[in-house]
Amino acid sequence: MTHASETFDVAIIGFGPSGATLAHLLGISGLRVLVLERDGAAYHFPRAVHFDDEVMRVFQTVGLGDSLSADIRVNLGMRFVDSEGRMLLDWSRPQEIGRHGWHASYRFHQPTLERLLNEGIARHPDVDVRRRCEAFLIDDRGDHAVLRYEDMATGKIVEVRAGHVVGCDGARSLVRRFIGTEMEDLGFHERWLVVDALLKTPRPDLGDHSIQYCDPQHPVTYARQPGDRRRWEIRLRPEDDERTVTAPDRIWSRLARWITPADAELERVATYTFHSLVAKQWRRGRLWIAGDSAHQTPPFMGQGMCAGIRDVANLAWKLALAVRGQADEALLDSYQSERQPNVRDYITTAVRLGGLINASDPEAALRLAQPSGDGGSRMESPVSRLGPGLGSGPHRGQIFGQPRLNDGRLMDDAIGYAPVLVADAALLSGLDAEPGVAVVTTDDAQGVAADLADLGVRAVLLRPDRYILATATDLAGLKAMLATL
Ligand SMILES: Cc1cc2nc3c(=O)[nH]c(=O)nc-3n(C[C@H](O)[C@H](O)[C@H](O)COP(=O)(O)OP(=O)(O)OC[C@H]3O[C@@H](n4cnc5c(N)ncnc54)[C@H](O)[C@@H]3O)c2cc1C
Repeated sequence: MTHASETFDVAIIGFGPSGATLAHLLGISGLRVLVLERDGAAYHFPRAVHFDDEVMRVFQTVGLGDSLSADIRVNLGMRFVDSEGRMLLDWSRPQEIGRHGWHASYRFHQPTLERLLNEGIARHPDVDVRRRCEAFLIDDRGDHAVLRYEDMATGKIVEVRAGHVVGCDGARSLVRRFIGTEMEDLGFHERWLVVDALLKTPRPDLGDHSIQYCDPQHPVTYARQPGDRRRWEIRLRPEDDERTVTAPDRIWSRLARWITPADAELERVATYTFHSLVAKQWRRGRLWIAGDSAHQTPPFMGQGMCAGIRDVANLAWKLALAVRGQADEALLDSYQSERQPNVRDYITTAVRLGGLINASDPEAALRLAQPSGDGGSRMESPVSRLGPGLGSGPHRGQIFGQPRLNDGRLMDDAIGYAPVLVADAALLSGLDAEPGVAVVTTDDAQGVAADLADLGVRAVLLRPDRYILATATDLAGLKAMLATL
């Protein structure tokens, strides 16, 4: 065995979407990072097919906004229909650019995202990604952690030291086991068949909305994907045999209502058991979990990966402060206290939508919606705040929008991955010293005045993840807010 000769600020276990995004954010922050990934292949099979504007903003932060834009599709939304085809719930999404500077909701191909995350990591020379390396032992020694992994290409056992170890290692997380936490079970566990198909001929009749067929006998999701890709997710019954349900003739007979082999080829078929679980403890000492290792959700809101991206956006800048010795326990503990209630809200909503799709409890989902006038209901995308944590004032825990500046750039591109003060220019002119933080004023972007007015404030201090830390309505408040920096 090679004993610990290398030391890293942070070791990340897992290079899925959560781990890769965290590696980028820590790379931008200048940390020395090791990523261990068991799989040799650069890209996983597609699982996630949807992400939202907040997540796109994180991808923008890591430099993927433009390259990702070329391969994604603005999502029209989701319609829930009953077995007779009657609309139960319409969750259509706005088609205009929204407050984050992006569209509200996108459809995407996960291997494309993972390829871009993988290629982009070369921009960070201090991030070392080691594939075919499986972590198996983590020991928190108080002032650092020791990590052992097997290099599966050579069979060598390697030991390294790290200031922090973050488990982005998926549903069967090793790091979660070392933290020793239990999971809270939110009650949903179902086996589904997932079929990705590539159309050979255009089929506009399939529709550009995604559709949930809420048929109690045969619940099915149809997901409109970018380009020629289409996905069907089909709930399995307890008696369906795992070994035969994926046989092509069985698949085609299930899809016959929509497509035949003349229309499309099967790109991939897999079965998944969807769970609804949240870890009770997300950190112990120098060990952390994020993404699927901390929570799992049924996919009906398209929010599993999104939650993982929100986790790492919340965690990355706190870890960077910890590595620099600038973080106290309250800051470190705010990761779980802020993120856990937020993800729990999303999972609870996804479970309710599941109850509409499989008709076990349609009323719980319909209570989330407003009557639409045509006998059905209409749902808006829920916006969930962070749980209790950092900052003060009525708006803490809310995310601030992203105005486009007068010079054409989006605010986050102009500021970079750092805190920012967004303020009324007149109020700022009253300061007798530099604010000590990047600034965007009402003179820099047209939308800023309206954004501040919406909150009823004259200045907001934003964290690097763009959540509101504090607000001010006058000069004294502004000075007090800046003093907290
Ligand atoms: C059918 C389906 C549809 C979905 N649709 C959506 C959707 O539309 N939108 C959405 O947001 N989410 C969706 N999800 C959820 C989403 O796919 C997951 O939440 C997301 O992929 C989790 O990412 P992750 O990086 O946290 O974990 P993973 O992607 O599971 O990555 C974990 C990584 O850790 C590695 N690893 C594990 N243990 C070790 C070890 N000991 N050493 C080294 N490496 C290790 C694994 O090899 C893996 O690469 C869907 C899921 C499914 C199954």
